[in-house]
Amino acid sequence: MRLVLLGAPGSGKGTQAQRLRDDKGIPQVSSGDLLRDAVARGTELGKRAKAAMDAGELVSDEIVLGLIRERLSRPDAAKGFILDGYPRNVAQAAALDRLLVDIGQPVDAVVLMDVDTKVLFQRLTGRRSCPECGKVFNIYSSPSPRGDRCDNHPGAAEAPLLVQRADDREDVIGNRLKVYESQTRPLVEHYRARGLLKVLNADQSVERVYAEFLKAAGG
Ligand code: AMP
Repeated sequence: MRLVLLGAPGSGKGTQAQRLRDDKGIPQVSSGDLLRDAVARGTELGKRAKAAMDAGELVSDEIVLGLIRERLSRPDAAKGFILDGYPRNVAQAAALDRLLVDIGQPVDAVVLMDVDTKVLFQRLTGRRSCPECGKVFNIYSSPSPRGDRCDNHPGAAEAPLLVQRADDREDVIGNRLKVYESQTRPLVEHYRARGLLKVLNADQSVERVYAEFLKAAGG
């Protein structure tokens, strides 16, 4: 199963990709997670990416392509992958097409997570995640049963405290949504024209979206 997840920030790409990963053992390849990891480790590449990320702008195509190429070359990606957050503009989609031809792993389907922009704002301001395992919660719609701690670790009292991403602050969210509209939305047509696009209504409960997602993914 080789999937691309398309959708605005907050549309639930990460949540659905993590479910599918846990269910089917297919790695979630999130460009945002790879970048955040590089920033947290203070690598040269992370330093170059940080300013764009803090402002809600796209990081340069060349930096992100390098990360994705390296990630897809790891052994676990040979059995499939769920690309989450990549590609994000037309140039990246073209680069991805070439990369996947090179490694002989064409995409099976591109799933668009369709949600109204108004809903996205609340989702993004409510989003919290675990700094250790990356599990995503929402204080409004899917809070952790342990309040401000992750429920994915043993020991309720010692489990990691959930954090809010720096770019989920209101002032940055507006810019991220604008960037999505202007740079990423054109990919919908790019993939529709190739007969790969499946659209799902992502403004439903996580469970219902997942059921539709499984169908769209063919599994
Ligand atoms: P995400 O976690 O997917 O929302 O990504 C967080 C931030 O990382 C974005 O706002 C961008 O600054 C950067 N980023 C993630 N994926 C890409 C990409 N494919 N191209 C450029 N920048 C990206």
